[in-house]
Amino acid sequence: MIAICEIDDYPRGGLEIFEILDEIKSNHPDFKMTIFAIPYEMNDENYKPIEERKDWIRLGVHGWNHEVKESYYPSRRNAHIHARKKVDKLLDLQYDFAKIFKPRAYSYSWPLIEALRQREYTISLSSNYDLLHGHHLYHKWFSSFETNIGIKATFLNNKDIKIFYGHTTEDHFDYFPRFYNKKFKKQMRKGNYQFKFSEDVSVMI
Ligand SMILES: [Zn+2]
Repeated sequence: MIAICEIDDYPRGGLEIFEILDEIKSNHPDFKMTIFAIPYEMNDENYKPIEERKDWIRLGVHGWNHEVKESYYPSRRNAHIHARKKVDKLLDLQYDFAKIFKPRAYSYSWPLIEALRQREYTISLSSNYDLLHGHHLYHKWFSSFETNIGIKATFLNNKDIKIFYGHTTEDHFDYFPRFYNKKFKKQMRKGNYQFKFSEDVSVMI
């Protein structure tokens, strides 16, 4: 079975996370992970541990400043232009981000999806949460995905893929180090997993 591992909200929570990631790597030489980081909070110091592990850690784009509704503007008349400008800003990031994107709380909007598609980003939909609680536009978009809008996306609802997912900060119920010790460690040992980056299991929709 394929395992994909994602963690959100880096660099919040600090550099301690790498101790646990290194432990996983030493137990599972094949281990790979995508860290979705808040771009505008990255600096040389918190980028360094990622650079040092670039063979098995990929840096994904987690919005801009991790603000509520930063990627959702339903009533703005020039929403498409606005989204395009914001996505283009990501192309100038000074650290080596992969072209995979996940907004805060999966708050996708049509203009954002369009802008990301134009810039050939892969979008992460690796959650059931957004299907159940996503806002109106996102629902509309998702229900029509079979019409082939031409964007690459990763999904959770593939039975052949197991996802290990969490957050870097302790205030989340799925704080990754805690989940790892409680649950993931056992699961990772039990399964015969082939680790892949999220992007490697993405499909065109
Ligand atoms: Zn987040």
